[in-house]
Amino acid sequence: MYKHIFGPVPSRRLKMSLGIDLVKSKTCTLDCVYCESGETTCLTAERTEYVSPEEIIDELTDFLRNNPAPDHLTFSGSGEPMLNSGIGRVIEKIKTTFSEIPIAVLTNATLFQNSETRKEILSADLVLPSLDAGTEKAFNRINRPSPEIDFNSYIQGLIDFRNEFKGQILLEVFILPGYNDDQENILALKNIIEKIKPDKIQLNTLDRPGVLKDLKPASFERLKTIIDLWGFENIQIVSAVGDRKNVSKYRKDIENAILGTVSRRPCTAKDISEILGMSETEVTEHLSLLEKDKKIRPQKLKRGIFYSQP
Ligand code: SF4
Repeated sequence: MYKHIFGPVPSRRLKMSLGIDLVKSKTCTLDCVYCESGETTCLTAERTEYVSPEEIIDELTDFLRNNPAPDHLTFSGSGEPMLNSGIGRVIEKIKTTFSEIPIAVLTNATLFQNSETRKEILSADLVLPSLDAGTEKAFNRINRPSPEIDFNSYIQGLIDFRNEFKGQILLEVFILPGYNDDQENILALKNIIEKIKPDKIQLNTLDRPGVLKDLKPASFERLKTIIDLWGFENIQIVSAVGDRKNVSKYRKDIENAILGTVSRRPCTAKDISEILGMSETEVTEHLSLLEKDKKIRPQKLKRGIFYSQP
């Protein structure tokens, strides 16, 4: 039984991802009103070894020697992983011992305000920072930061990180009606995103209960309005996959074409996208729906996740 690693769990963004939790529940620099992990009980910006990096490395080594390699090793879990001052050591160890497995870091990016801290994750392959606020007012309302976090330094840290980091940045923006969906914040977010220049932007909204009661998700139409206003090409809605009306390019004939393809032989999402001439993102969205309806069955093999008919 491992204490600090969990999964592998299937993820649309990271395929089969082995999670690594670097802090104890719930230690974070923010106390977001929508957090699915509950209220932040340790609100801090102090970096220390909340969990021993050596213990994590031992667990990872044991897991990876006895199990098939996951698609990603992902720093995520019950708080902000960059609060652990040993994150750089753990990444370095993975890079020297298990270099073939890509590393992903899910972070709220608030500690990017320090250039030395940013350096510790520069050798990751994929970073998924979050950004919900374009103004300090919205930041305080939705993210409720620790007093040491300065909004302008946090934004500047994200921009600086983009210039230093050679891997992919998937920026997640969470939209919550009444907290950050006012016109002032939406326009300010657009300006900041233009400066960060992420590889992809993922728009999310409430899927599960948050910390505060009576929170409401943004409607699909509202998210579409924001996408139209921003005008970015590299943006997608990632919330509420289970509903066909929420898949931006859902088409019944695509679903049928995928079913026809996997009925002949098991395929990965990449195989299907090549066979059908569609983007892998579109294929993955349709696969999620088919998997939810139990019309296809995923199976993890050496070359990736293969889908077939049950
Ligand atoms: S940054 Fe992430 S973990 Fe921290 S409170 Fe916000 S949603 Fe929760």
